Amino acid sequence: MSDAKLTTLTAAAARRMLDTRDISAVELTEAHLARIDQLDGDIHAYLHVSGDVARAQAVEADARMATGEVAPLTGIPVALKDILCTTDAPTTAASRILDGFISPYDATVVERLREQGAILLGKTNTDEFAMGSSTENSAFGPTHNPWDTSRVPGGSSGGSAAAVAADEAILSLGSDTGGSIRQPAGFCGVVGLKPTYGRVSRYGLIAFASSLDQIGPFSRSVEDAAIMLGAIAGHDPRDSTSSPRDVPDFTQALRENLRGVRIGIAREYRVEGMEPGVERACQDAIAQLEELGAEIIEVSLPHTEYALATYYITAPAEASANLARFDGVKYGLRLEEPTLAGTYETTRGAGFGPEVKRRIMLGTYALSSGYYDAYYVRAQKTRTLIKRDFDRAFETVDAIVAPTSPTVAFGIGARIDDPYQMYLSDVFTIPANMAGIPGVAVPCGFSDGMPVSLQVLGKAFDEATILGIAHAYEQATTWHERRPGERV
Ligand code: GLN
Repeated sequence: MSDAKLTTLTAAAARRMLDTRDISAVELTEAHLARIDQLDGDIHAYLHVSGDVARAQAVEADARMATGEVAPLTGIPVALKDILCTTDAPTTAASRILDGFISPYDATVVERLREQGAILLGKTNTDEFAMGSSTENSAFGPTHNPWDTSRVPGGSSGGSAAAVAADEAILSLGSDTGGSIRQPAGFCGVVGLKPTYGRVSRYGLIAFASSLDQIGPFSRSVEDAAIMLGAIAGHDPRDSTSSPRDVPDFTQALRENLRGVRIGIAREYRVEGMEPGVERACQDAIAQLEELGAEIIEVSLPHTEYALATYYITAPAEASANLARFDGVKYGLRLEEPTLAGTYETTRGAGFGPEVKRRIMLGTYALSSGYYDAYYVRAQKTRTLIKRDFDRAFETVDAIVAPTSPTVAFGIGARIDDPYQMYLSDVFTIPANMAGIPGVAVPCGFSDGMPVSLQVLGKAFDEATILGIAHAYEQATTWHERRPGERV
């Protein structure tokens, strides 16, 4: 098989070929490293490529497969958002403040991938500390959308989305605090899954907003997302928010039709500024779900209009506390001054980029005495109302579908000077984070030549149902088969 074909495989297809010895992990890894070499100058999905480490892992994976001791991801090349700690590559969170930082431990998800024998190709670009929707807030330059390199890949996990879309990795991991897996997956035409809060351990994920952050996969098929979730999910004593619930075999939940499934459409998910092409593609997708046997039911999520405001109080508040640790003492950059306070100030002033500073200021303000009740406490109360909306809706439906984003990928530079416009890209993704529920984004058409995405939201810990629905939809359509370079 040619190198070009090797880099377009799904993990499931690669697994079969590895198992029958049609290909080796070494060949698969070399094909990906060559592809990265050829293309990443234009895409900039990676901040760090671990060529030697990946090659050594591939040799080991082949040896392991020869003994018959195979896990689902043995020999499969994977990319990691550079906010996940790894001992054998730098971890920067795309920030200058982590300059020179090498983690003394691996994130739990990384440890689990290593145990499976996955090949870790490198670390992908992100908005600094995962704050953003376009990957333009990276201190190391933006990532380009593989479908049109003048556009953003979405964010914050834009590098992970672009790597899978551009055939520079078969699978990748990102993190989703307010949409950072689903939105870039949508912009890049791949599958992205945000698991339920607590489904995947966040130990070793650099914290942004701890009550919202969750790690999840990017893939070229829903089946692959189910495989990756199975590999990383489950309780971890090192993350007290990780759930002790059993992890089902998510691939068993993939279904071919939707008979007997009740799918909700939220009345409030029609917003001004929604691109007509996006609306049309999502309407067609809903008709397709109905054709597959689903019953479509209108539901109401009345507090949706407060989700963005609630998020932009809660997330910066938590970030302002989480980022206090980056002060030049323990991690990365240190710009020494005669006084300790001076060292803190100079290091943080030089180390953080403008969006991170904006969030720290917003969050500190919302938490300060006199404003705490007016902003932070009120945001927490509103958050409960948003969660209750979903609880009520899930009394009558098994899942809710909505556009992943109101527009397709926008141009690089188009929104960077207007934070409010940038924040609006997350209007459909944020409610799921506020409620802690899972959501999966799947390709559902094109508008202006760029991918459109549908998200399927489910009950807490019911990833199986949303993966089942997304798979049935995917199998009935061909959107996921389109590749960048074949723009429609
Ligand atoms: N775009 C949102 C933000 O800027 C969400 C980011 C994320 O999910 N990490 O905060």
